Amino acid sequence: MSLKTPTEYVDSLRNLKIRAYIGGELVDSVVDHPSVAPHINTVAKTYELAHIAEHADVMTTLSHLTGERIHRYTHIFQSSDDLIKKIQMLRLLGQETGTCFQRCVGLDALNAMYAVSYEVDQDKGTDYHERFKKYLAYVQREDLMLAGAMTDPKGHRAKKPSQQEDPDQFVRVVEQRSDGVVIRGAKLHNTGGINSHEILVLPGTGLAAGEEQYAIACAVPADAEGVVFIFGRQSNDSRKLEDGCDIGNTRFGVVGGEAMVVFDDVFVPTERVFLNGEIEHCATLVNYFATWHRANYGGCKGGNADVLIGATAKMTRILGTDRNSIVKDKLIEMVHRTETTYASAIGSSALGYKLPCGSFMTDPILANTVKQNITRNVYEIGRLSHDLAGGFLATMPDSKAFDNPEIAGWVRKYYGANPEYDVMERIRFGRYIENMTSVTTMVEAMHGAGSPQAQRIAMLGQADIEGKIAMANQVIYGTDDVPGLALPDVNAKTAPAVESD
Ligand code: SF4
Repeated sequence: MSLKTPTEYVDSLRNLKIRAYIGGELVDSVVDHPSVAPHINTVAKTYELAHIAEHADVMTTLSHLTGERIHRYTHIFQSSDDLIKKIQMLRLLGQETGTCFQRCVGLDALNAMYAVSYEVDQDKGTDYHERFKKYLAYVQREDLMLAGAMTDPKGHRAKKPSQQEDPDQFVRVVEQRSDGVVIRGAKLHNTGGINSHEILVLPGTGLAAGEEQYAIACAVPADAEGVVFIFGRQSNDSRKLEDGCDIGNTRFGVVGGEAMVVFDDVFVPTERVFLNGEIEHCATLVNYFATWHRANYGGCKGGNADVLIGATAKMTRILGTDRNSIVKDKLIEMVHRTETTYASAIGSSALGYKLPCGSFMTDPILANTVKQNITRNVYEIGRLSHDLAGGFLATMPDSKAFDNPEIAGWVRKYYGANPEYDVMERIRFGRYIENMTSVTTMVEAMHGAGSPQAQRIAMLGQADIEGKIAMANQVIYGTDDVPGLALPDVNAKTAPAVESD
């Protein structure tokens, strides 16, 4: 079965014995826990849309391994068109859910592992690539929800993995066995892991000689012995447990349901190990993953912004400000920032190029530019939404005030605005805007797929500043050989005379 239905996804999760702590307590079933439900609903939407004919071209494709129809979330990018379709898929899903739908980390991790396992084999004569292809075929056949796990706790930030007082601050191999390895450590900010079938563990940083134990990439079932999830909190998450209009995004999460995942001496059999000690290839693995994932944000955050722009535009109608030209201009600014970032993501995909293994990489400097812009544009779009919606976002009473007959008359009367709209529409849309522009969403836009400085460092390396200096020299001194109109010899007039002794 290559395309699971939403029900099959949820049922298959139910069969797993995932060890998870939520609110500090071990839970019996993550599937039935109300804190996880919004995140499961979001992933279920990725499965649902793959069965809708109108979206089939964007949501599904043919496997390059088997020729069978598969979900695009398990696909290895075969062309620039594949990269573009991925961005279109993310925009669509962002519009449908208004939040993070979690599967892209696993997708980009699959692609990074596919490419690097090939390169390691070329370099070292290993057989990781064939091994990984077998695992990939399994993921495609079962249409698995895969969480990528990259970010190590990192301990003292000024120290390398091998210099840490606590060697477990980066996931490492603590035992090499004839039939596999035992890994220990943790990964943070793990998106969607708690409602995944599998975790693809990758190194989170480049490594140096002496750090071979940290050069480990492998696939671990989410319910493997020794895997423990400790669920994170999101802004206003307890409102999801309430009835009424304070929920915000009614069915879906605020962001991706992130958790700390602990690997408490987890055994990984050899057929699931795809890198083991090859330090020279870790930086490339991180780089490939980050480049693909940074371009994604122009798609997913674009779709999320579409929903926020819609909610904000409707709010201006509820308030009666929608005909004001300044209000319209602020909405246009929100659209402009959304489309600019989306255009960069599409552009980085269109300029994709072939890697040695035959798959396609997105244009690196454009991908980093997308993510750098997201760290600003999501805040600015949120700021404009706050500006247009007004201060009541931060001061309105909870939904129970509207249910209490002693005060309901007053709150309804004094929160009323344009009489064409019921006052509860104002409250409901206000709560959505408040929820989806809260701290968690902003921090995710800032640090997801790497913090802003990581993109700037990458861009400095990719910007070819020396090449740009050469361009400037050529233009200013006119040193190229291209024939053109004869002009006065500016150089001869301005160059200082060279004195000879
Ligand atoms: Fe996908 Fe965006 Fe969530 Fe990353 S932040 S997993 S790209 S939806």
